[in-house]
Amino acid sequence: MAGPLLHTETLRLGEAEITRIADSESVAWPLPALFAAADDAMLAEAAPLLPPGHLDTAARTIGLSFNLCLIRTPDFTALIDAGIGAGKERPSRPAWHRRESPLLETLAALGVVPDGVDIVVNTHLHADHVGWNTRRENGRWAPSFPRARYVIPRVELDHLAARQAADPATPALHGAYADSILPVIEAGLVEPADPPCTIAPGLLLHPAPGHSPGQVVVRLETAAGAFVVLADAVHVTLQLARPELTSNFCANPAQAVATRRALLEQLSTEGALVMAYHFPPPSFGQVERHGEGWRLRPVVAERREGS
Ligand SMILES: [Zn+2]
Repeated sequence: MAGPLLHTETLRLGEAEITRIADSESVAWPLPALFAAADDAMLAEAAPLLPPGHLDTAARTIGLSFNLCLIRTPDFTALIDAGIGAGKERPSRPAWHRRESPLLETLAALGVVPDGVDIVVNTHLHADHVGWNTRRENGRWAPSFPRARYVIPRVELDHLAARQAADPATPALHGAYADSILPVIEAGLVEPADPPCTIAPGLLLHPAPGHSPGQVVVRLETAAGAFVVLADAVHVTLQLARPELTSNFCANPAQAVATRRALLEQLSTEGALVMAYHFPPPSFGQVERHGEGWRLRPVVAERREGS
């Protein structure tokens, strides 16, 4: 299928090639919908610390992307998180309802065919992180990457199964449990993970609970240093400046703050390269201490605009 491709950015770290693929790029979200506690004084103080385009204090919107991370090493090809997906029924989330997205075409342009993906990690089970687990095939939802191990935190799997069982009439995760998670479970591709654990050479999962009960961050160890996918432990760069700010979607706010602080302390100490699921560009960088909080020192990647 010809057509526009998604925005991508690639950088190299040791033997690894790391690509951000934006299933949705730089969407302006009304701030109160994400952070009920953000007030004007806080925003005015934090805004100068953030990269351009991350926060619009006048419009009171915050930029959000939805970034899959493709990691290629001599040992494996992995996708960290799986976007919003395409063609899904999401009546309760109009922007995600029956949307189109050329993810598979974008992967093909990067030289990755569906059978070439060895590992898919879902850092946590929210609808905007699991969409491309499956795609429509002959009228049903089938695994998008049929030869991959789908590595998912066991706590997340158990939590979602219990929630759906307790309230069968309400589609869990806006319908994503049924169309994006159950089909990969039924195909026998899911490998429950009990972090901390190593899932492939140099690829590790670490617990990062709070936003959801079993969320993990993903760490890649290379000869040139470490790379960490932050998942939703940090949604936006505003939370680097104000780590106490918790999203309206966090299951356990106090735990989310404690997880974020500990993670940022560790990352700024070791100088690891990071990428966050929801940062608009610049999405890659290093975290450094700044006053009472932290900030992002962007690392420039090779960027290819979606056409
Ligand atoms: Zn998210």
